[in-house]
Amino acid sequence: SDFLASSDPAVAELINQELQRQRDHLELIASENFTSAAVLAAQGSVLTNKYAEGLPGKRYYGGCEFVDKIEQLAIDRAKQLFGAAHANVQPHSGAQANFAVFLTLLEPGDKFMGMDLSHGGHLTHGSPVNVSGKWFQACHYGVNQQTEELDYDQIRELALRERPKLLICGYSAYPRIIDFEKFRSIADEVGAYLLADIAHIAGLVASGLHPDPIPYCDVVTTTTHKTLRGPRAGLILTRDPELGKKLDKSVFPGNQGGPLEHVIAAKAVAFAEALKPEFKAYSAQVIDNARALATQLQDRGLKLVSNGTDNHLMLVDLRSIGMTGKQADQLVSGVNITANKNTVPFDPESPFVTSGLRLGSPAMTTRGLGVEEFTEIGNIIADRLLNPDSADIAEDCRRRVKALCDRFPLYSHITIPVPA
Ligand code: PLP
Repeated sequence: SDFLASSDPAVAELINQELQRQRDHLELIASENFTSAAVLAAQGSVLTNKYAEGLPGKRYYGGCEFVDKIEQLAIDRAKQLFGAAHANVQPHSGAQANFAVFLTLLEPGDKFMGMDLSHGGHLTHGSPVNVSGKWFQACHYGVNQQTEELDYDQIRELALRERPKLLICGYSAYPRIIDFEKFRSIADEVGAYLLADIAHIAGLVASGLHPDPIPYCDVVTTTTHKTLRGPRAGLILTRDPELGKKLDKSVFPGNQGGPLEHVIAAKAVAFAEALKPEFKAYSAQVIDNARALATQLQDRGLKLVSNGTDNHLMLVDLRSIGMTGKQADQLVSGVNITANKNTVPFDPESPFVTSGLRLGSPAMTTRGLGVEEFTEIGNIIADRLLNPDSADIAEDCRRRVKALCDRFPLYSHITIPVPA
C-alpha cells in the first residue's frame, strides 16, 4: 500500500518483488495457492491488534465483542463446510493443530503410528527432529513397494504388532485416495484413536471430491492454505463435542496464547468462499488439471510414483532418467517454474538430494489455467528435464512459461508502482 511504501520502502519494495515473482512464475508447489483479494484484506486488517485468549463468549480480555462474532462465524462455517460437530479455528498452523491432538490424546512416551516421511508423511507425524518424534514413540508404515500405494493389509499387520495408541492417516506427498473406513477398522481392531491430517486434500474433501474423513476419524486436522485456498493457518475438527472441548484446551492454554483474529477472519472468508458452488467447480478443475499434467508427463516417458494421480499432486520419479530431485528442481526453476524436490518411496538419495519432483495443480488452477494449459506445462517440464544441456530449449521453455503467465494475470487489483 501507499502507507507502507512511504513509511518502510525497503519492506514495501520486497513485497512488490515477491508479487512480481508470483506473477512471473508457474507455481506448481502442491501445498501452495493464491488466496482471494477478500482473504488478503481480512488478514491485513485491524484485527491484528486484538488480544482474545479464550473462546467466543469466554475471553480473558475485554473488547472482544466483535472478534467473538468473527471467530463464531469461522467456527460455524468450518462446521458446515466439513459436516463436523465441533471446530477449533485457532491453530496458527497445521503443525500446531497436530500438536494439540497429541497433547489431547497421548502422554509423553506413548506410541503412535503414521506414515514415514520419506514415503509422503509429514514431519509432525513422528520425525525424529520434530517434537512428535522426540517426546512420543513413533512407528511408521510406508507404501507398498510394488504398487507405491497404501497397503491396508501391511498397515494392519504393523498396527497389530505395534499396538499404537494413535493411528494417523493423511499425507504431504501421496497422490492417491485415502480409504478412511479401512483405517477406522484397523484403529478399532487395535484400540487406537484415528487422526486424519487432511492438510493437503482439505479443499477436495470440502468439495465432496475426496472421501469424507469426519464419519470415521476421532479427529481431523488440516491446514487452511493449500487446496482449501485460505490464509496460512490450521484447523481442528471432530464429530465428538466432548473430545472437542479437550481439543480446545490443548490449543489454548495447552500450546498457544492469543489467537490470531486477523487470520481467523481470513479463515471465515475462505470457508464462505469454499461453501459456494464455484469452489466445487474449482476443485474439480484442480483434479482434472493434475490428471492432464500427469498424463502428458507420462506420454513423454516420465515415470510417476504409483503411475498417476487421483488428487491435486503427483511425484515424478526421476530415477528412470538418471536425474536427482535437486537437479530437476534447479532445471525447472531456471525456466521460472516453481516446484520442490521430494523423496520418492524407497528413495536411495538423501532428503537434500532426493529422486523425485513434487508437482501440484491448485495454485495455477486458481489463476484460471485449464486442461489445455496443464498439458502445455507437462510438455514444458518434459522438454526441460529431457534436454538438461540445451540452452535453446531452456530459452524456449522460459518463453512458453511467460506466455502462460501473461495470459492468466494474478492480483490485477494490485499495481506495483514504477520507480520514478
Ligand atoms: N500436515 C501435513 C500433511 C502437511 O502437508 C503440512 C504442511 O506441509 C502440515 C501438516 C503442517 O502445516 P504447517 O506448515 O502449517 O505447520
